[in-house]
Amino acid sequence: MQIDIVTIFPDFFRGPLDYGIIRRAREAGLVKIEILDLRAFTRDRHRTVDDRPFGGGEGMVLKPEPLFESVEALNLAPREERAAAKQSVVLLSAQGKRFDQGMAFELVNLDRMVLICGRYEGVDERVGTHLADREISIGDYVLSGGELGAAVIVDTVTRLIPGAVGNEASTRQESFFAAPELGGSDSSDKSVRATRADSTCASGGLLDYPHYTRPAEFRGMKVPEVLMNGNHEDIRRWRRRSALEKTLRNRPDLLDQVRLCDEDKRLLAEISAASHPVARD
Ligand code: SAH
Repeated sequence: MQIDIVTIFPDFFRGPLDYGIIRRAREAGLVKIEILDLRAFTRDRHRTVDDRPFGGGEGMVLKPEPLFESVEALNLAPREERAAAKQSVVLLSAQGKRFDQGMAFELVNLDRMVLICGRYEGVDERVGTHLADREISIGDYVLSGGELGAAVIVDTVTRLIPGAVGNEASTRQESFFAAPELGGSDSSDKSVRATRADSTCASGGLLDYPHYTRPAEFRGMKVPEVLMNGNHEDIRRWRRRSALEKTLRNRPDLLDQVRLCDEDKRLLAEISAASHPVARD
């Protein structure tokens, strides 16, 4: 996969993309990341990338010409053929569709992705309507530039490229992961598929279960006994219950998106009974 990032701050990316999984994926040739300096595509002496907004108002807006020319320099397929060519031009924008793990699974199928980083008050709207194929927001808050968003997308997508993460199974047991056969978001008929509770190898769209490592006791804090007794069925149940518990506490919205199996429902009932004990008279 090739990723090109268009930015007015190319040095910003010294660092975020040079460590760990991303660095190894780049070195292994699984992903090629190029940074384009938007100012290199200006034609005036001052290398102007922004201008005042038509209609008045605060701040400055990134001009369309350098942005169009920077993307055109990449020789992508024409806009109407880009999807078929497995290419996509993405504008980072607080007004975009919200990025999530499901979208990352979609983007990892691309051969080529261009990420345009906005700045100031934003980007001339014609970039969104006539140059980019999609607008993506990384969350419901306003950043001062698209660069952090681009780094988030590159990180999340790169670790899904086959071979990028040493242990392939580990990207499949994380928070949010819901494969089609497990009732994931890209399942064609999600209503009839239950998440599989008989496996610890998938969160089934829930949050991940808690992880522990040595020492077994640290400053009086003990690792749950069940993880050390070697009973795989007990461990599986404990992990599923913990994942359900944490999802219920921090992200109850996720529980509405997955169809829970009978065991999950039983575990959830146990969890709520434990947190709201019924007073007996
Ligand atoms: N006036 C805009 C915000 C501009 S912030 C608005 O209210 O929507 C400047 C740039 O930061 C944007 O052009 C975009 O590229 C980037 N940005 C800000 N918030 C973002 C978010 N949540 N996700 C992705 N990019 C974001």
